[in-house]
Amino acid sequence: MKSYRKELWFQTKTRRAYINITPDVEGCVRESGIKEGIVLVNAMHITASVFINDDESGLHGDFDQWLETLAPHEPVSKYRHNVGEDNADAHLKRQIMGREVVVAITEGKLDLGTWEQIFYGEFDGRRRKRVLVKIIGE
Ligand code: ZN
Repeated sequence: MKSYRKELWFQTKTRRAYINITPDVEGCVRESGIKEGIVLVNAMHITASVFINDDESGLHGDFDQWLETLAPHEPVSKYRHNVGEDNADAHLKRQIMGREVVVAITEGKLDLGTWEQIFYGEFDGRRRKRVLVKIIGE
């Protein structure tokens, strides 16, 4: 069995952002040389997510609005976590959107469903943050 590990780095200009990282993960699969296996992709921060959904800007706006309804950033003083920081909402948003995805690799390609794409969801950006890509297989 072969294994491969890579960290992808992101620094968004805005506090919240949704980035399609499917091409980056495809690049890792190619680089790994693994033809049959599994790829795990996870955010290495507790205020960011990796999730799979449609690459459609209206939907991303809907996600953002929905998350802001569930856990609005303001007023920051309403959260008990925000003693000396202001990112309680980002922790809550990350919990809803998830930590990681696992995708099958078949014949050297990501075996995604129809319209499925892999996204990095940032909820407390404007600083350097990492995503782990771990691939096992042969
Ligand atoms: Zn925090």
